[in-house]
Amino acid sequence: MTDQGKRRFETLTVHAGFESDPTTGAVVPGIELAATFEQDAVGQPRNGYEYSRTGNPTREVLERAVAELEGGTHGVAFASGLAATQNLLYLLEPGQRILVGDDVYGGTWRLAQKVWARYGVHVDVADLRDLDALAVALTDTTAMIWLESPTNPLLKVVDIRAVARVAATIGALTVVDNTFATPYLQRPLDFGADVVLHSATKYLGGHSDVVSGVVVTRSDEVAEKLRFHQNAAGAVPSPFDCWLVLRGLRTLAIRMDRACANAAILADWLASRSEVSAVHYPGLADHPQRDLIQRQMLLPGAMLSFQVRGGGTAANAVANATRVFTLAESLGAVESLIEVPAVMTHASVAGSPLEVPADLIRLSVGIEAVEDLVADLEQAFAAGTAAPPATS
Ligand code: PLP
Repeated sequence: MTDQGKRRFETLTVHAGFESDPTTGAVVPGIELAATFEQDAVGQPRNGYEYSRTGNPTREVLERAVAELEGGTHGVAFASGLAATQNLLYLLEPGQRILVGDDVYGGTWRLAQKVWARYGVHVDVADLRDLDALAVALTDTTAMIWLESPTNPLLKVVDIRAVARVAATIGALTVVDNTFATPYLQRPLDFGADVVLHSATKYLGGHSDVVSGVVVTRSDEVAEKLRFHQNAAGAVPSPFDCWLVLRGLRTLAIRMDRACANAAILADWLASRSEVSAVHYPGLADHPQRDLIQRQMLLPGAMLSFQVRGGGTAANAVANATRVFTLAESLGAVESLIEVPAVMTHASVAGSPLEVPADLIRLSVGIEAVEDLVADLEQAFAAGTAAPPATS
């Protein structure tokens, strides 16, 4: 990983955005619920605060914290990851095009394809691991390249530096959805990306108890536009939501260490199973992009997906049968989750170039004892094979 500054990342996560309250000495930030703030005179807000959609002290701590962790200079927080995505799409003008990776979160695709296309922003798709495919997909009106790495749900790894270089030659912005990796494992701005986006609902919050999103950049110009739209469109997170994400952030590094260690063991175990036809995990010893992964990521992450023999029926049966893994959408929390993307998180990409295989199961590996996770999948394979539930 690149230099994180004087403090190591684990120390930064504990202190980012806030040291202690200068008035009370409180060691955690307060939750500022005020919707409005007294002005000293007409048009003269005290300490810069006037109305909480425009600026809120608790939100600002979160924005500062995530910006520090990503090595950026501006953080802008939103009510969800998709609200953050929407705000980035406001950077585009009708007639411009956005190039997205061919394996991104279904909701990102739905927003770009089904909403923004109506306003004249068009979407192209390419496998961004392939720089020739990227070159072919670019047009002279491409204004933004949108990538995830690792991708959701197939865990494809994209060379962020290579894509950002190409984008810069045509003046397009590179946006990296860093939700899967987190800034602990990967800092896209260090590789030349212009903007980093998080669904803070996931690893940053880390406890499945808040929906939130954050965008980080080093560009004053981009930040100014994002802040304008944050206020103008108003999809801001509540102060309590900001506080919950801040609370989760403090343990980001230690949660990731444990979850990544569990995921590596599970990936190897799955690869040895006869029920499994393919495992998608950046940490596999024979991964063809091993050098890139080691260059770009501190650890290969705690998300993995795998395909089972027996198609969608078998995938559903296994996902229905787990007891420790909870059958649920979302990811990145302390508890392990299992889902079938084709019918759950990625149903909206059916019939599109992003369609995912029906036999794919996605795991968000949590911090439980790995022996219990392995035993749970083992019994789910046995139960799933013995008594597949009826499918509609
Ligand atoms: N990006 C990724 C990679 C996601 O997985 C998700 C949600 O699952 C989002 C963005 C959207 O975030 P949110 O659900 O917080 O709106």
